[in-house]
Amino acid sequence: MDPVIDGSFIPLFLTQLNASRARLKKAIHTRQLEMWYQPIVQLDTGRVVGAEALVRWPQPDGKLLPPDCFIPFARETQLLSTMTQWVIGQVFNDLGAWLRQHPQHYISINIEPDDLQSADLLSHLALLCQGYGVRPQQITLEITESSMIDPQVIAPMVERYRRAGHAIYLDDFGTGYANLNYLQAVTFDVLKIDKTLIDPLPGKSLLPQVIALARSLSLEPLAEGVETQAQAAWLKSHGVKYAQGWLYSKALTSRAFIHWCEPRCVTAD
Ligand code: C2E
Ligand code: MG
Ligand code: MG
Repeated sequence: MDPVIDGSFIPLFLTQLNASRARLKKAIHTRQLEMWYQPIVQLDTGRVVGAEALVRWPQPDGKLLPPDCFIPFARETQLLSTMTQWVIGQVFNDLGAWLRQHPQHYISINIEPDDLQSADLLSHLALLCQGYGVRPQQITLEITESSMIDPQVIAPMVERYRRAGHAIYLDDFGTGYANLNYLQAVTFDVLKIDKTLIDPLPGKSLLPQVIALARSLSLEPLAEGVETQAQAAWLKSHGVKYAQGWLYSKALTSRAFIHWCEPRCVTAD
């Protein structure tokens, strides 16, 4: 018998799938998810310029479920756009007042191309920015290269957000999905260089070529996953201005992030 096509498992599988979906949906609607914030720093001064918003799902045993464990599931079960709406609202709840007090700082939010396509998202962002007195430039959006769709489809959508003032970051650059077509067809503002390219530093890496590529396309490179002083020194000496990683801080609750920033804010505020 073909072990793969044993139909007796299907009802149980579907029941479990539906139960898991219902649990995640409830977690989103009853605000059980939490947003954590990982600082982004200016390499030469060590000052904070902003943070990336990262979702977590607290479990009954007190542990935090990382996003890689439930985002693919949310995507498969069409819950991601609901989650993104919640994420954006929560970022303003957590840090809207702080952003208004710190107009030179920004929060970067991970979204999916499907979110970009949604008619509501841009107006939702505009309303929140207006309501909290936050400049649109203080909310940047990250799109993962692995989640890219046809560049001809995404280019005009990205342009709408950029025209409204939101910088667009190409996330996880270097993980192998990027098609140079994308970089030609879509105007991004920042290239987030994936940790896999940072890990080998200061040893041999393709990073000098990636930095040159970013410069030739007028993209600001931002290094992700910086864990050592040697990596930071290498990046600084190669003209990379911005970084995030455990060397500076892991993701923090909004309250801890605000506290962490106090001695590290740029003085222009
Ligand atoms: P990402 O957007 O590339 O976020 C960076 C990930 O690298 C985060 O993992 C962060 O905690 C981790 N990281 C940062 N610095 C270091 C470091 O120095 N060392 C190590 N080992 N890891 C570091 P996290 O929070 O588990 O998020 C994983 C991915 O889940 C994110 O990757 C992003 O693609 C997705 N994600 C997170 N939050 C959201 C969200 O609100 N919406 C959506 N659509 N996706 C999200
Ligand atoms: Mg990201
Ligand atoms: Mg990334």
